[in-house]
Amino acid sequence: MIEHLYIHIPFCRKKCPYCNFISYADKENLIEEYVTALTLSSQSSDFPLPLGEGLRVRAKTIYFGGGTPSLLTPNQLKTILSPIPYILTPEISLETNPATADFEKLHEFRKLGVNRLSIGAQSFNNRHLKTLGRIHSAKDIHKIFDDARKAGFENIGIDLMYALPGQTFEEFKKDIQEILRLDPEHISLYNLEVEKNSAFGSRLTALGLRFPDNDTEADMFEHAIESFAKAGYKHYEISNFAKKDCECFHNLAYWLNKNYLGIGVGAHSHVDGRRFSNTESVEKYIGCGCATGIDRRKQVDVSSPASRETIFMGLRLLDGIPKDKFQGFEKEVEELKQQGLLEETSTNIKLTKKGLFLANLVFEKFV
Ligand code: SF4
Repeated sequence: MIEHLYIHIPFCRKKCPYCNFISYADKENLIEEYVTALTLSSQSSDFPLPLGEGLRVRAKTIYFGGGTPSLLTPNQLKTILSPIPYILTPEISLETNPATADFEKLHEFRKLGVNRLSIGAQSFNNRHLKTLGRIHSAKDIHKIFDDARKAGFENIGIDLMYALPGQTFEEFKKDIQEILRLDPEHISLYNLEVEKNSAFGSRLTALGLRFPDNDTEADMFEHAIESFAKAGYKHYEISNFAKKDCECFHNLAYWLNKNYLGIGVGAHSHVDGRRFSNTESVEKYIGCGCATGIDRRKQVDVSSPASRETIFMGLRLLDGIPKDKFQGFEKEVEELKQQGLLEETSTNIKLTKKGLFLANLVFEKFV
């Protein structure tokens, strides 16, 4: 049963130098053809799981990710949604870049059924936004947030980054104050990781911009956790915080290793233990449609209920996952418990507070 649908929009106005997502800055002229290809993909009877009767009543979440889905016009969004029986879908999310949507567009998106907006803010400090190569300013973030509220969005998420090159603890505290002043329903917080030897890493070195050290980075994370908790957010996943009942239910499906279907360039799917992903080429996707765009070589068998993937995805959740998922991994769990990184509740195994800060050490055991 498919309850979660992901639609990838791989276009951006400009490629951010740290970005590893499948997104292209010089292909906006292909959006219209891409929209048609997406529509055909979801209608194709060759598609492994055509969107049919089953999905009509069962789609619980649809997520437009990117790339920059807010580059779509309302008409293009309408076209993509047209073959999908989505009216009863409780959560339809769309990622936005603050410089690519205004009140009119957001109002149209809302009227089409999008009810959750995810704003890629990353920082409220213009100097850091510039270093990150973002196309928007702090003012744009405030503007899109106000526009979104006026357009009727009652569920808004904001993405923030920390441990930025040259960022001080005080600057990060200001970012936290700014985000709390906006009072979104959801916050995602990621640390910036850049390979030293990458082009971006070398550029930062040449500019004399150093990353905060490990202790400062941990202090930033801890400060965010405490500030968000005080403001009433539940820390439900390592990088995610939500007001009551405002968790991102689409992303929860990933962490709980549920079935989901990905449409579009580079989109991944997980269906009954089978994993597959689509071609990363926009041209190929447009040219051949989704049915033949699926790269079957990437299939991975994860049918075991005790799969390592189920464990390390599930351990990202602060509540952890049921103990029976760890069958066959008793030795690893015992070791991690002794190191103070995992703990047991009556039903689950989860990260300790120490484990939260050293999660990669935990995940390594299950990769
Ligand atoms: S806007 Fe987002 S998806 Fe596009 S290049 Fe920047 S980080 Fe990547």
